[in-house]
Amino acid sequence: MLGHLQKAGEGVECKVCGKKMDKAEAHYVTGYGYVCRKCGLVPVSCDRCGSMVRRLTTTVLRGKMLCLKCYSVERESGEKRVSRELSAENVENALQLALKGSPEGFILIGLRLKPSSTTLWIAEYEREDIFGMRCS
Ligand SMILES: [Zn+2]
Ligand SMILES: [Zn+2]
Repeated sequence: MLGHLQKAGEGVECKVCGKKMDKAEAHYVTGYGYVCRKCGLVPVSCDRCGSMVRRLTTTVLRGKMLCLKCYSVERESGEKRVSRELSAENVENALQLALKGSPEGFILIGLRLKPSSTTLWIAEYEREDIFGMRCS
């Protein structure tokens, strides 16, 4: 329930069967809510690829129940920017890795060293259509 604050240790209700349980034994499905172990283990089909997965491994995004793989694809397609962490000795290597690792449909717009690190880099990408809009 939105805006409903729950104190630690308080009971939660399974969104599927309504069973009350301790928060510690409940499974949280992102975008959906708490489910009990029994309901969490029930196989459900992914709304995107149709594969059968256990409910507790799914994520609900924009009303669709997605398996882990589809979730990462959907999430990125809905986002204007994504970033990737990569490790490289120097900026040339980091740049090569960043370009090679570009997510589909994204353009590399930035590369910077992770704060307090000398070998971890953060590559930032922007969605191609957004990038085109901004630069045309
Ligand atoms: Zn349940
Ligand atoms: Zn899927």
